Amino acid sequence: MEKKYNWGIDLGGTKIECAILDQYDPTQVILRERIDTESIKGYDHIISQVGRLIDSVSQKVGFRPTRLGFATPGVLDPASQTMKNCNTTSMNGKPMAADLAKVVGCEVVLANDANCFALAEALLGAVQEINKEAQVVFGVILGTGVGGGLVVNGKVINGLHGIGGEWGHNILEEGGEPCYCGKAGCVEKVIAGPSLELFYERQTGDKKKLKDIVQAYIAGSDSNATVTMERLFEYYGKAISTIINVIDPDVIVIGGGVGNIDLLYSEGYERIKKYIFNSGEVLTPIVKPKLGDSAGVFGAAML
Ligand SMILES: [Zn+2]
Repeated sequence: MEKKYNWGIDLGGTKIECAILDQYDPTQVILRERIDTESIKGYDHIISQVGRLIDSVSQKVGFRPTRLGFATPGVLDPASQTMKNCNTTSMNGKPMAADLAKVVGCEVVLANDANCFALAEALLGAVQEINKEAQVVFGVILGTGVGGGLVVNGKVINGLHGIGGEWGHNILEEGGEPCYCGKAGCVEKVIAGPSLELFYERQTGDKKKLKDIVQAYIAGSDSNATVTMERLFEYYGKAISTIINVIDPDVIVIGGGVGNIDLLYSEGYERIKKYIFNSGEVLTPIVKPKLGDSAGVFGAAML
């Protein structure tokens, strides 16, 4: 009976969410449940919280998972089978897939949360509305951080190092702001929300939220807002053009708070034409996501 269902878990900094989807019609959600991550209590506690959540959900539906998809911040290093690049740093260096398998009692398939976002939007979300035949989908998370995921023929491409799709730490601005990854001027340090707000603050000495900077740009009332937004459009065009030049996806889905800025789909799109290796012609549909907060957990279930 349990073979008919896809189980997924999305591990976030504050919440852990479980969803069970119908395997034959994954738009049918059987059950969803969330508990607090309490990540401050450390790695072992996070693992036991996942165990508790699976126990609770299993009790309600009357069966346990035989395979569990799991969305995490960071990635499982394919060679060492331990976690890396996690912002919840207690997870780094830990054999998370093996530890989770012990506590939930079945095989656990891990993928980065941006990969799960891309998978969910490809199979159940925005891509289904644009182009059901799409083979190559790139999902971008452009918010407080920058991540990305690559899906080909319905499968996540994790890559040799487990960093497939991680365009957020490509260097975009030589000599730019230092990044936690050890480099400087990464995509994330140029076009993520906090990076744009910091740029504006450096120009003016004033702190302003990105949405207010966008409003001031639209109103034409603040030349520093104009400089900040021009910077966003220009670097966004450069950064997205590199994705298209390398993998030329059928659809790009852009999630996250910065991805919500409508101007990226007009002014930003124009800048891609400047940098693409295609005589200035861009056909790639670039769209907003459809699944909202659910993309992580649905993507995990689709692993
Ligand atoms: Zn970086």
